[in-house]
Amino acid sequence: MRIAILALQGAFAEHEKTLSRLGVESFEIRQLRDLDRPLDGLIIPGGESTVQGKLMDDLGLTEPVRRLIESGLPVWGTCAGLLLLARRIANDVRTHLATMDVTAVRNAYGRQLGSFSTRGSFAGIPDVPMTFIRAPYIAQAGAGVRVLATADDRIVAAREANQLVTAFHPELGDDLTVHRYFLDMVCKQVAR
Ligand code: GLN
Repeated sequence: MRIAILALQGAFAEHEKTLSRLGVESFEIRQLRDLDRPLDGLIIPGGESTVQGKLMDDLGLTEPVRRLIESGLPVWGTCAGLLLLARRIANDVRTHLATMDVTAVRNAYGRQLGSFSTRGSFAGIPDVPMTFIRAPYIAQAGAGVRVLATADDRIVAAREANQLVTAFHPELGDDLTVHRYFLDMVCKQVAR
């Protein structure tokens, strides 16, 4: 199994480290030709969604990545990655890949004016640590979207078929729950 990590900006190195702790091979997507390598899943890291979105456009990555996602490639967006995947952003005219049927709200999550950590249930798994840094939340999710976690009554993790999003940053801590969940999605897709 090989996981590609979008490495234009933000917390991509932390995802690489977490995957290597799990014994999973990963490589970075920095330019269009990196997409020629075989990949079983893609992680879009946290950082700044507007910067990552612009760099993806400038590098000609937006359309090819969108096509990969639409053809079923498992993808996980953390924080800014959630914003890149959201079809609608309530407080921004821009959208980016816009493949997932959710409305996200930028920089607007309750206590997140700074950053904070909490623990909660993720996909039925109790007590998962969640670190939020100027995080978005999901204000509205389409019929095909399954809510996986909430915090302060906001949707902070969700899944639509091959797409997973978390408003929080599992790669910044030691807990491996969400990485394992994503790798399980990838395994099931590879097995098909
Ligand atoms: N506020 C950032 C954005 O709008 C996301 C923050 C993060 O990824 N930690 O892209």
